[in-house]
Amino acid sequence: MERLSRDNTQMYANLFGFLNLPLCEDISSSEADVAVLGLPYDLATSGRAGTRSGPNAIRQASANLRWEEARWPWPFKLTDRITAVDCGDVQYYQGDHAAFVAACEAAAWEILDAGKTLLSFGGDHYVALPLLRQHVKRYGKLALIHFDAHTDTDEDGWIYDHGAMFHHARTEGLLDEARCIQVGIRTWYEPDSHPFRVIDADTACGLSSAELAATIRDHVGAGPAYVSFDIDCLDPAFAPGTGTPVAGGLSSNQVLGTLRGLAGLELVGMDIVEVAPAYDSSEITALAAATLGLEFLYLVASRRGQ
Ligand code: MN
Ligand code: MN
Repeated sequence: MERLSRDNTQMYANLFGFLNLPLCEDISSSEADVAVLGLPYDLATSGRAGTRSGPNAIRQASANLRWEEARWPWPFKLTDRITAVDCGDVQYYQGDHAAFVAACEAAAWEILDAGKTLLSFGGDHYVALPLLRQHVKRYGKLALIHFDAHTDTDEDGWIYDHGAMFHHARTEGLLDEARCIQVGIRTWYEPDSHPFRVIDADTACGLSSAELAATIRDHVGAGPAYVSFDIDCLDPAFAPGTGTPVAGGLSSNQVLGTLRGLAGLELVGMDIVEVAPAYDSSEITALAAATLGLEFLYLVASRRGQ
C-alpha cells in the first residue's frame, strides 16, 4: 500500500509540497483529484501582518502528518480513493492588490476548470473572496460554512479588507444566503447586517462535535457548500499564530470532530487562512491548519467509492 509519499524516508527531507505531495506545474494535464494552492497575501489584514508566510508554515508542519496510512479515525486509506498535488503559491508583485486578485483568480480557475477540488492555504482571509468567485463560476451560488471569531461582514469595510469580504460576497450575489452559517463568532457584529445563521463561540463550545456538525448539516442541507476556515476560530491556546487572536474559542479537537461530522455534505472547496507563523509557538497553529487540511482531503475522499 502506498503511503502519502512514495518514500517514507523523506518525511522531513526535501519537503516542498503539502504532505510532500508531488508538485504540479500544469494542472490541466494532471490526473489528481485535489489541488493544493498557497496564497501568500496579507495586504488586507487589519491586525498583525504576516500571513504571507502561512502557506509554507503549513506545508512544513504537515511533515508530521505524513506517516499515517489512514488517518485516525477514518476507516479507509486516503490514497485508496484520491490523489492530490501541490500547485505551489500564487505569484504576484507584493503590494499590488489587483495583481494578486488577478493571479489568484486565474490560478484557482485553472484548477477548477480542470475538474479538480481546490484546497487553499492563506494568506489573510480576504483571499476567500476571489476564491469564492471562481467556485461560484464553477458550481453556482454556494452555501458558506464559515469558521471564525469574526463575521467578516463589515458593511463599511474597504474593498480589500479581511473583515469585509463576506459582505462583498453578498453584494456580488455569490452566496446561497439561507444556507450560510458562521461558527465560533465572539466579536461584535450588527445582527441585522447579514442573514447568515450564527453559532457563537459560547454556544459552539457547549455542544459536542457531533451536535455542532449536525447543526451545520441541517442548516446547509443539499447542494454545493464551500468551507472557509479562519484559524482564529480556534482559541489562542490552540492557534496563537494569527493576526487577530480572540480568547474564548473552540479547541482543535472540537473543530476536527466537527469537520469529520460534515461527511456527506457536498463540500466543493476549502480555504484555511490567517496562519501567521511569526506569532506561532512550537508550530501549534501551523500544525492545526495542516491537520484541518488533511481532514478536508479525507472528507473529499469519503465521497468517493472504494
Ligand atoms: Mn477572524
Ligand atoms: Mn476571518
